[in-house]
Amino acid sequence: MGVQVSDFTAQIIEDAIGFANREVRPLAAEIDSSGVFPRSLINKMARQGYLAASWPKEYGGLGLNPMAYGLLTEQIGKACSNTRALLTVQTSLLGETMLRFGTVAQKKTWLNQMASGDRIGAFALSEPNVGSDAKHVQTTYRKEGGKYILNGIKKWISFAAIADFFVVVAADESGRVTTFIVEREREGVSTIPMAGMLGNRGVHIAEIRLHDVEIPAENVLGSEGSGFTYIVSTALDHGRYSIAWAGVAIATEALEAMVAYSRTRSQFGEKLHHFQLIKGIIGDAVTKVHAARALCLSAAQMRKDGTGDSIHETAIAKYFASKVAVEVTNDTVQVHGGNGVRDEYPAERLFREAKVLEIIEGTSQIQQQVISQFGLRKYMVKR
Ligand SMILES: Cc1cc2nc3c(=O)[nH]c(=O)nc-3n(C[C@H](O)[C@H](O)[C@H](O)COP(=O)(O)OP(=O)(O)OC[C@H]3O[C@@H](n4cnc5c(N)ncnc54)[C@H](O)[C@@H]3O)c2cc1C
Repeated sequence: MGVQVSDFTAQIIEDAIGFANREVRPLAAEIDSSGVFPRSLINKMARQGYLAASWPKEYGGLGLNPMAYGLLTEQIGKACSNTRALLTVQTSLLGETMLRFGTVAQKKTWLNQMASGDRIGAFALSEPNVGSDAKHVQTTYRKEGGKYILNGIKKWISFAAIADFFVVVAADESGRVTTFIVEREREGVSTIPMAGMLGNRGVHIAEIRLHDVEIPAENVLGSEGSGFTYIVSTALDHGRYSIAWAGVAIATEALEAMVAYSRTRSQFGEKLHHFQLIKGIIGDAVTKVHAARALCLSAAQMRKDGTGDSIHETAIAKYFASKVAVEVTNDTVQVHGGNGVRDEYPAERLFREAKVLEIIEGTSQIQQQVISQFGLRKYMVKR
């Protein structure tokens, strides 16, 4: 594990390694190629307590602190990116946000059902014309009596094709952003699955169409107008933390594949790892993986202690770890030669999954912007 943790956390991670090897890794290629996430795996993840891993026990959670949750995400993410995405969306994006801003009734209803795997959700922010500029969503809401009427289209929404409910971000005519819990069965809600993805093929990505959908006031998540500043910001911060660990997970899995292949494949009468150029690639990959993991651990410690600027440390970790995942998986494909571009080996899948991390939860350019604003303040020294 390479980090000091409590006996409780050590046991959770040991169990997670066993679970990932037994139940998750053997399904990873099949989930990727079929585009179907098995219901049985959702149930197994729930039974392990993973879909509520970081939530308090009263909502069916394991009560993991951010360090333990990160280490858990790492183990699941090494085994299968689609399964890690389930963890990211249910536990981090939705669960953590609802824990902080949900009413008691909302938490009792939704968190318990999500923890047990009976209901799964999706976080619906992006739209056909709105991605990075997330403050300016075009999905609208208007108040009529005590109800809200929603209209619009959401795009790229992970798990939307199979989710039971959606947290939808919408704006009123004055641009005030509010989030709503929208159950799938409401009249005027439909989803259209999106095929042809580079990665995350097993997360049932879909468009959500909302046509005059009536939402009762008790389904507002947080207060009216707090949708961007509180709900979206909190969801993305937790999502980024999870994606940072996903980057470390993919890069480490790729590094292990690279090492194994270089030790077994021979050319010119020598194992690949004897060649200086291959040693250079492996040396760089080890260095990058260690550096990315160190950043994740630093963000984890800040989040756990509630000290330092954990939001920016998390953005730095997400930016760096996703970049490292792309670089290391690229090199893993290279070391595998022709076998790197064929699905008999995991290298090509890891490469595709890594690229997605530079786009979701805020693209790398958006992270650079956030990090540079932070840096321009923090490193402005008056002498
Ligand atoms: C696999 C997958 C799963 C997803 N799951 C979800 C989900 O569950 N829920 C959800 O709401 N969304 C989801 N998304 C959407 C994702 O959050 C967006 O794709 C992402 O925010 C980028 O938005 P965009 O695609 O519209 O790109 P754009 O915002 O159009 O950006 C295009 C390019 O321009 C760059 N750019 C944009 N603005 C700037 C700027 N100011 N300065 C410099 N460069 C800039 C970007 O970095 C990018 O390179 C998912 C996407 C994918 C691919």
